[in-house]
Amino acid sequence: MTKQLRLMAVHAHPDDESSKGAATMAKYVSEGVDVLVATCTGGERGSILNPKLQGDTYIEEHIHEVRAKEMAEAREILGVKQEWLGFVDSGLPEGDPLPPLPEGCFALQDVEAAAEPLVRLIRSFRPHVITTYDENGGYPHPDHIMTHKISMVAYEAAGDPERYPGTGEPWTPLKLYYNQGFNRPRTVALHEALLARGLESPYGEWLERWDESDREGRTLTTFVPSAEFFPVRDKALIAHATQIDPEGGWFRVPMEVQQEVWPTEDYELAKSRVPTSIPESDLFAGIRDNDGYE
Ligand SMILES: [Zn+2]
Repeated sequence: MTKQLRLMAVHAHPDDESSKGAATMAKYVSEGVDVLVATCTGGERGSILNPKLQGDTYIEEHIHEVRAKEMAEAREILGVKQEWLGFVDSGLPEGDPLPPLPEGCFALQDVEAAAEPLVRLIRSFRPHVITTYDENGGYPHPDHIMTHKISMVAYEAAGDPERYPGTGEPWTPLKLYYNQGFNRPRTVALHEALLARGLESPYGEWLERWDESDREGRTLTTFVPSAEFFPVRDKALIAHATQIDPEGGWFRVPMEVQQEVWPTEDYELAKSRVPTSIPESDLFAGIRDNDGYE
């Protein structure tokens, strides 16, 4: 029997897969790994962040379709499969006090119930490894936090025949990671490298604000070398045209600086059912060489 490694990346909105772990996915695809992105919501409440497309009434009125089309393009670029879990974007509440979340949105769903479509997808795709966000969501968007919650429930439940009956044969994923690509050590390294080269850094203000952040002190366990695929990541991100300003800060750090200074995408191993040693450079460490996987 041919052994096929499978990776599932759970994301809140279309575009999150292209900004978090995209180079990792493209790398694994190039190695023959089967990669599936599970997108929780349609991104219907995302603002149009590309100044060139702001005020376009067609886009505003058809945001769901537009974002689905962008997602299809990004999926092609990354070479991944992708499924929608079918939830409705909660939007990022802004203001003081924060407005209530809109009725029926993803973040207001019951966690147990909302994990069901993910359990179903895990049972049909049978991933060895799942990536998701940490309990802070990576950034405090209610959909990202909800994505974390359903991922944790589904990781535990998918292999248990007693839970979620009628959603397919149980399947036990072996590892679960949090995306930690926007970590402080990486940001500091890029910031300093830019200044040392006499270039402008988009990170100065960010780093100042970051001091109080609760993301400080998170454990990075896994550094996946993926610099070769950073250009693919950027191409996929640009495919989400409504969500990204191609002139924006994201693209202001020269590619060669990124590739030289911090050539990995980074993760925190949150759960493992296989022995592994930290630090790792492969999401499949402890699985790949084990005859036990199927
Ligand atoms: Zn998002």
